Amino acid sequence: MDDQRLDKARRRLLEEIEVEAADTRNWTGRARFSNRVMAAMAKVPRHAFVPAEDRDHAYVNRPRPIGFGQTISQPYIVAVMTDLLDLSGTDRVLEIGAGCGYQAAVLAEVAAKVFTVEVIDSLAEAARARLKRLGYDNVEVLSGDGFLGWPEKGPFDAIIVTSAPEHVPPALVDQLMPGGRMVVPVGRVHETQTLYLIVKDKDGNLKTRKTLPVAFVPMVPKKEGAR
Ligand code: SAH
Repeated sequence: MDDQRLDKARRRLLEEIEVEAADTRNWTGRARFSNRVMAAMAKVPRHAFVPAEDRDHAYVNRPRPIGFGQTISQPYIVAVMTDLLDLSGTDRVLEIGAGCGYQAAVLAEVAAKVFTVEVIDSLAEAARARLKRLGYDNVEVLSGDGFLGWPEKGPFDAIIVTSAPEHVPPALVDQLMPGGRMVVPVGRVHETQTLYLIVKDKDGNLKTRKTLPVAFVPMVPKKEGAR
């Protein structure tokens, strides 16, 4: 596919995201996503994040395989999760589950700084190289266990978890700033998960709201020596 057709496919994808946002308003509480989030979705070249042989399908509104049994998230899901975080241009964001780095790039368009943790070393290395090549110098990638968060860099204005734990990891709640927001899919493997929006108020109290039913890969602890 040449650049012109990729552009066309990307524009069609944005329209699909708008329709899906309207369709899911009762779950998410939002009939449309912010202009800033939609501009980020329009700008990030998803075809640079999928395997080369999958380039022609880069703008299909579906998750796609990226190797190691992992996937690149569905574009609508990337958009809704980013929107629910209500990011400002000064925010520092923690992502758990860098994968190919696509969600991190979208976050990097709307926040000041993105810290992303990936448990599979080879994916972390590839994401780091790809984000650098694309000029995302406000993203740092850590190869490590997301259950621990990234304490040296916290606390964070927002946290986004893109694999599903069975319970919200306590370290992540600790690393969320008062006034901060977290989106996290929670549920057991092979069961429908629920995407939660957790808001920590100024006094540190948590308010948790259920949004969409979702299907993420499981969040798994890091095995020592594993690659
Ligand atoms: N954010 C990605 C989606 C990645 S899929 C995107 O933009 O498309 C989920 C990722 O979470 C996988 O790469 C998986 O390896 C990773 N993951 C699973 N358990 C993890 C853990 N404990 N810590 C960090 N990453 C984890």
